Amino acid sequence: MTGTMSGRLAVVGSGPGDRRYLTPEADAALASAQALYGYGPYLDRVPERAGQSRYPSDNREEGARAEAALRHAAQGASVAVVSGGDPGVFAMAAAICEAIESGPESWRALDVSFVPGITAMLAVAARIGAPLGHDFCALSLSDNLKPWALVERRLDAAASAGFVIALYNPVSRARPWQFGKAVERLRRHLPQSTPVVFGRAVGRPDERVSVIALDAAAAAKADMATLVIVGTRETRIIARPGRSPLVYTPRAVAEANA
Ligand code: SAH
Repeated sequence: MTGTMSGRLAVVGSGPGDRRYLTPEADAALASAQALYGYGPYLDRVPERAGQSRYPSDNREEGARAEAALRHAAQGASVAVVSGGDPGVFAMAAAICEAIESGPESWRALDVSFVPGITAMLAVAARIGAPLGHDFCALSLSDNLKPWALVERRLDAAASAGFVIALYNPVSRARPWQFGKAVERLRRHLPQSTPVVFGRAVGRPDERVSVIALDAAAAAKADMATLVIVGTRETRIIARPGRSPLVYTPRAVAEANA
């Protein structure tokens, strides 16, 4: 390692789990890094390579992790920061940008790149049909970084505007009640029969995908590894003999107030 600004930092999305979801570009970025930073369980899924050092950290330490990775790259190293799914979706890419903006001027001279990955909502949608087949949005239910009142305002706006809603971070140990409250909020705007897709640990051995109606959704099991997709008035379920149902949102909407 030299003291020059020859360092590189790649923010890499590893996809939802299994290696088959890792893009060749992400694989190459991970293989060529001298140092890997990331949340421990995500790092554990990256194959060990000789001569590569690893710096696992806790889930909630994104800011500190971003700064540590940037400092390391600024010493001349080739560093990769790993995010599950896509790094730009509720993950490390924005944390790295925040650190660069508030950090030393020299960090702006670094070669920084962002390598996309398959985000959880796309992996879950692909398991069950085409729930995101028309206009959709994504929300994180975590109120660690924003007030809960804002989450509720966005749920109201999204549901009343007819968006399919992908919910990231529905629950965690520190946030047991948010998901139930969110469902209660959505029930004000949507028919009780609106399909809700629960995709848990998609792309991993313990994957589980199910669909239930909105009126039963609050009681359904969601955890930290679950991505929830709430349909619209148009979202449909196609029952199939001997096969799991298809859930889809048609491409066209006739009514302006749908
Ligand atoms: N950057 C990640 C999201 C990080 S936020 C991505 O693009 O997917 C963490 C949340 O993502 C989890 O609480 C869960 O809602 C969702 N998630 C991540 N991996 C998942 C998986 N394999 N299956 C289902 N949901 C997942």
